[in-house]
Amino acid sequence: MLSYQHLYHAGGPADLHKHSVLCAVLDDLVARYRALSYMETHAGRGLYDLAAAESVKTGEAALGWLAPGAAGRVPAELAGAVLAVNGGDPDGMSYPGSPLVAAHLLRPQDSLHLCELHPQEYAALEKAVAGDERVTLYHQDGYESVIKLSPPLPRRGLVLVDPSYEIKDEYIQVAGVIDRLRRVWPDGAVLLWYPLLPAARHEAMKTALAKTQPDVLVHEYCWTVPEGGSGMYGSGMIALNCPGALPGFSSL
Ligand code: SAM
Repeated sequence: MLSYQHLYHAGGPADLHKHSVLCAVLDDLVARYRALSYMETHAGRGLYDLAAAESVKTGEAALGWLAPGAAGRVPAELAGAVLAVNGGDPDGMSYPGSPLVAAHLLRPQDSLHLCELHPQEYAALEKAVAGDERVTLYHQDGYESVIKLSPPLPRRGLVLVDPSYEIKDEYIQVAGVIDRLRRVWPDGAVLLWYPLLPAARHEAMKTALAKTQPDVLVHEYCWTVPEGGSGMYGSGMIALNCPGALPGFSSL
């Protein structure tokens, strides 16, 4: 396992969807609370080169961040995070992963706990966040780590759960992890990303979540129509216990 590499998908339509929602939720939490704990179960490498062969091969970034006018269609905070990792160059080819998007929005008093299991992705993540004293890295399974770390101090904050869904059972596993997480950290907000694929395994995940969580909000974004094959046709985000308004989200 661990064959998934996010470089093939970075800056694509799914990333723009996920990172736009992340920005909206963090923006609200920052305005609401004096200090935050931010955690990621699946952090990835933190910084992606959209000119790399892997990215060019799938063409996903070309449909996402590199598409004409993309900067004007995402929240200003996300556009700002991309500009920051490119040293202010609007034509730069670097794209921030969720850890650097969050680091851009969070303040000096906030803490970031980032888990990544893949050795090469972890090594790259170390470089991407080097020198940021707010960050603690965990080269460990993200599901168990966030539960062990909860409830964190500061008590207010957010967990981003962004699995690679390499195993079919992960859709059901993730629903169980979120139930355990919310029991140990009831104050925490949770964001969960999932792909929309023709096999529709996310529907079982939503059903499992709805059985244990009273407050599931969902937003799904489709960029193409589902076809018979295995291609991803859209991106889903689930929000739990996010106190601010989330336009476009609806209850499960
Ligand atoms: N959150 C990142 C972003 O938006 O920039 C992308 C993360 S990518 C979808 C999923 C990552 O999870 C991969 O880098 C993979 O190596 C890692 N991974 C897979 N299983 C894991 C686990 N059990 N614990 C921690 N990391 C894991």
